[in-house]
Amino acid sequence: MADEISKAQSARPGGETIFGKIIRKEIPAKIIYEDEQCVAFHDISPQAPTHFLVVPKKPIAQLSDASCVDEALLGHLMIVGKKCAADLGLKRGFRLVINEGPDGGQSVYHVHLHILGGRQLSWPPG
Ligand code: 5GP
Repeated sequence: MADEISKAQSARPGGETIFGKIIRKEIPAKIIYEDEQCVAFHDISPQAPTHFLVVPKKPIAQLSDASCVDEALLGHLMIVGKKCAADLGLKRGFRLVINEGPDGGQSVYHVHLHILGGRQLSWPPG
């Protein structure tokens, strides 16, 4: 986890990201769902028994860059996230997270939803 935070502190927006490569199938990922607007795939470093990401194909770097034209897209990500959570059997619930900027712990500057579940999650998060 400390490693994830140090990555977030040094990461900066701008340019190509690993998620662009996953979207274009240039590198592999365990894809759960895909449509014309987004792709959902398992996180490479899961922080819960189930941990996947929902990533828009539109390369918005971070939530603070999103605008009104992105409202429907951002809503779509949540709907896809909850459908995938149901498909993956997260009957007891799950958590949806967007990390924003260095203090938020963002390490990949292509906006994405985390969905975590499969265990009791604590609150507040660290
Ligand atoms: P962030 O820290 O930006 O909120 O989340 C980025 C997430 O992307 C992290 O949870 C990290 O484990 C995940 N991640 C980074 N590189 C890869 C990769 O190459 N493949 C997959 N599947 N996940 C990745």
